Amino acid sequence: MVFQQQLKIIINRDEIAKAVNRLAREINRDYQGKHPLLVSVLRGSFMFTADLIRQLDLPLELDFVRLSSYGTARESSGRVKVVQGTKTPVKDKDVLVVEDIVDTGITISFLLDYLRKKQPASLKVCTLTDKPSRRRVPVPIDYRGFTVPNKFIVGYGLDCDQRFRNLPDIYTLED
Ligand code: 5GP
Ligand code: MG
Repeated sequence: MVFQQQLKIIINRDEIAKAVNRLAREINRDYQGKHPLLVSVLRGSFMFTADLIRQLDLPLELDFVRLSSYGTARESSGRVKVVQGTKTPVKDKDVLVVEDIVDTGITISFLLDYLRKKQPASLKVCTLTDKPSRRRVPVPIDYRGFTVPNKFIVGYGLDCDQRFRNLPDIYTLED
């Protein structure tokens, strides 16, 4: 039972802003002359997506997908379902998935399979955070903000039971 949850800051807003800026520069460089379709994974990556695309100097399109994994607040069950798929045509587009965190990798590899079936011209992954210690499925990550330790993190869009998404910094949550 959770009696008290402790928040400890691990990445502050300035570090986030610097990482977002660096990722945007990499994406601007790599997608020059292209019209990428960004696919943002709801709900956790909404804040990252909003900050990132404001620094992208590209004629981009943006779509959102929503996935469910029927788990508890902190553990995904490993069974992923597409609750809301892409509404924008994907075929022959340069698709860039925007994620908040890659943990076991199960969610993102499911999404990559889903998108690959729609025959994009290219398919890449940009994640704000990466927790490689927990990986169960290999995932190609093309743009990575931070590598985080094997702890549950919240803030900057990331939740625990729908709380803490509004925090401007990233925290670990410990019982
Ligand atoms: P995966 O399928 O890679 O295990 O994790 C997918 C989803 O689990 C992430 O998109 C995120 O919604 C959630 N998740 C995994 N680790 C964390 C974490 O440390 N904090 C939060 N808030 N969500 C996480
Ligand atoms: Mg996510």
